[in-house]
Amino acid sequence: MKKVLAFDIGGTKIAYAIIDESGNFINEIIKVTTPKTSNGIYELLKTVIKGSEDEIDGVAIATAGAINNENNKIISHVGNLPEKYNELDFTSLTSKPIFLENDANAAGWAEFKLGSAKGTQNAVVLTLGTGVGSGIIVNGKLLKGKSGSAGEMHVRFGFGHNRKCTCGLWDCLETYVSGNALTTDAQIYMSPDATSYDVIRGLKENNQKAQAAFDHWQECLENALVMVCNLFDPEVVVLSGSMAQFVEYDKLQKEVNQDILTQPTELKLAKFENNAGMLGVALLLLERLK
Ligand SMILES: [Zn+2]
Repeated sequence: MKKVLAFDIGGTKIAYAIIDESGNFINEIIKVTTPKTSNGIYELLKTVIKGSEDEIDGVAIATAGAINNENNKIISHVGNLPEKYNELDFTSLTSKPIFLENDANAAGWAEFKLGSAKGTQNAVVLTLGTGVGSGIIVNGKLLKGKSGSAGEMHVRFGFGHNRKCTCGLWDCLETYVSGNALTTDAQIYMSPDATSYDVIRGLKENNQKAQAAFDHWQECLENALVMVCNLFDPEVVVLSGSMAQFVEYDKLQKEVNQDILTQPTELKLAKFENNAGMLGVALLLLERLK
């Protein structure tokens, strides 16, 4: 059975493990702090790859950014990763086959192949973390678009100038349904220095203001879900990321299905949490190696 070394490169941590064709993690997942420079990241990857090159059939990397799958180049901004990270020549890291994919796309693929969207042909996996990402499966294939950027959730959700997004636009969907968005709601409904953590804590204590902040956040999520369901007509929408555990699934699924123009859809919590990116990109490479 073939196996690959898979990485998930994030702004704060880099995780890696060896994964086989069945999606099994062969060894324990190792996590290290992301080096401060792009050179440091390159050297770290090179060292780790060298250490296991004899036992693997390829290297798979889940990362921020839009990926050109033909040459493994990153062709967009990369969030909170160091300067010039998107200029790295990943192909030169190893003589083995190497494959990169956007982390949200990879997470979507993992849920589609082995997780909460398994058995479907059309699925949207929304990652609700600090920001918002998505992996979209249409007719059994990962939706990439002409430049690998399909599924970027930087779409305007309102036309005022209320919430500035990390991408530079105002009132992006991300500014209403991410973890940071819940902090914004906390500051509006609770107090100027409240955070998303105060909302979550407040919910457990039946705090009315925390409930109002959460209800606003979840109502925005409902509207976002109606949008993606009408656009992609998925059998299932899977929510992942740090915020996904707080969503009221039954309530939201009912409300979304009342508002969409398409046939009813299902709303589910992701099966794989932080490891979905690594698993998904590993499976994508392993399919190419077959
Ligand atoms: Zn944006």
